[in-house]
Order: sequence, then structure tokens, then C-alpha cells
Amino acid sequence: MENNLLEIRNLQKSFPMRGKNTALFGQREQMLAVANLTFNIKEGETYGLVGESGCGKSTTGRMIVGLEEPNGGSIIYEGKDLCKLNDREFFPLRKDLQMVFQNTLSALNPRQRVGSILEDILGIHGVSNALERRDQVLEVLEKVGLSEYHYFRYPHELSGGQVQRLGIASALVIKPRLIICDEPVSALDVSIQAQVLNTLMDLQRDLSLSLLFISHDIGVIRYISDRIGVMYLGTLVEEATTDEVFKNPLHPYTKDLFSSVPDPYIRREKKSDVEFNGEQPVRTSDLKGCAFCARCPYAMKKCAEQTPDLNAISSYHRVACHLYDNVE
Ligand code: SF4
Repeated sequence: MENNLLEIRNLQKSFPMRGKNTALFGQREQMLAVANLTFNIKEGETYGLVGESGCGKSTTGRMIVGLEEPNGGSIIYEGKDLCKLNDREFFPLRKDLQMVFQNTLSALNPRQRVGSILEDILGIHGVSNALERRDQVLEVLEKVGLSEYHYFRYPHELSGGQVQRLGIASALVIKPRLIICDEPVSALDVSIQAQVLNTLMDLQRDLSLSLLFISHDIGVIRYISDRIGVMYLGTLVEEATTDEVFKNPLHPYTKDLFSSVPDPYIRREKKSDVEFNGEQPVRTSDLKGCAFCARCPYAMKKCAEQTPDLNAISSYHRVACHLYDNVE
């Protein structure tokens, strides 16, 4: 699990802000959804990306699979920068990078049966033989815990857990190397969540897949991830192996995030003894210094002036906070 499958370097994405028209010539003020984001995903690992709603996690996933166009930075895969490829150049690589969404049902054609949906995906990616397509679809249905019975069903005839399994099958059917899972179990009951997560973990192990698992749910992230990146206002504030980040969270935001989890086990472990100010603000290009400065009870003069780098505390733990500037 040492080689990097995907390298993300200084990734940027901004969106125009609604109702804001403050700049010259009617240009709208921009909200920075992702700002200078840098991390790697290794071959065969599950990388958990966690943070509050609106911190840029999903936008990051969508940029990796080409659903959003970055404003800057690089996404390096197989030695190529995906941000610089046109649609024709990106297409052959797209099959390696797939995505599972929170609401799979809304992305499916309600008039198409499950088998036909999956066979169409294979057809788009060049599997022209009908028998071959059918065999591959039945094989993938079995892998995700569905069966030939579901092959003939319509999406609305499936339960919530089965629909998410179909979402995983849609990603898996063309044999990807990386699946971006964007809150894939958030809408499911807890018992069904565990079943779907276990299926994902089995598939990841059996097929040596890499997963980028995006969630706001600390418990889910802890269960499935090998490493965790904590995001705040579009950037990574801490990254470590799962055990390390839970045993030894360093960034004030990570501590705040974990202390707000309604899980008695985690709360007891990580209860924060300081008050954090306010809510997550919107990030604009005006922001200077540390993005967490306005909410941080430890903020110093330096924090408002200098953006902290994501520095290595050890070979498996990095943190972006001036409190650790002099820690070797
Ligand atoms: Fe708080 Fe300063 Fe660290 Fe930011 S850099 S988290 S403001 S102490």
C-alpha cells in the first residue's frame, strides 16, 4: 500500500456567490470551495475525507472524476495531469475512476431494468458482445450482494440498501482502480449502513481497489478508513492514519469535530475542554492566515497573518497549525 495511485496538488475550485455583486464590472465575488488542497491516495487503501457539510469534500470528489472543472492545481494519475486533459483524452482514464453517490436512485432511469442499466455502462466502455455484457453484469451483481432476481427489477422495486449496492455495482462493473464514495450510506438505516460498508470493505480487499470515502460521519469514517484527512473550508488541516488521528488529534478543529460526535465512545475519548466560536464561515479570496482563525480559541497574532503549512509531525501524521510549527 505504498505507491501513490492518485496525487492531488494545490487543487482549487471557486464558485460565484449568489447575491454578491461587489467587484468591478459586475463580476461576482467568488466562494473558494477548495483551496490549495494537497493529498495522495495510495494503491489499495481507503482514504477517508471528513469535515462539516460545505467544506469542499464532495467538490473534491467530483473534480477527480471530471464532473467539476478545477480552477487550478493538478490531479496526477498514471503520470498524467487530469486537469490538463480534454474530454477525448480523459475518456479512457474515466473507467478507472468511478463514483458512488449518496442518492443513487435519482441518477437512474426509472424505466430501465437493473440489468439493462449496467449493460449500458459496459456498452459505453466498449463491451459490444451482448452475452459477455450479461455475464459480467451477473458477476458484479453477485459481488455486491444482489442476484439474478434483481437483474430483472426496476430501481424503484429495490430497498434503500439494494439501491446503494446497485450504485456500487454501476461503479464496479467496468473494473475501476479507484472509487470515490460520496456519503454512500448517509441515507440508510444504521444496520443497513453496516452491511453496505462491509460489502465495500470486502470488495476493496478482494479486488485491491482504492477508495476515497467522503463523509461527515466520524463513526463511519473511523470504521472504513486506513488514513483520514480532515478538511476545513476547502483545505486539509490534518492527516494521519486512522488509529493515530483518533488517539492523538492535534488540530483544534479536529478536536472540535470529534467532540461534537453523538457517539459516547468517541465523546469520552476526545471531549474538548475549550469553547469554539461560531459556525463555519464562507471562504473568499479575502481570507488571510489560518482558515480556522475566527473560530479558534488558541488563535495568535501570527495565525491571522500567515497560512500554516501542512507540516509532518511524524511519517504518518501531518497538521496545519502554528501551534506545532516547532515540533520535530
Ligand atoms: Fe488556531 Fe492558529 Fe492553529 Fe489556526 S493556526 S488552528 S488559528 S492555533
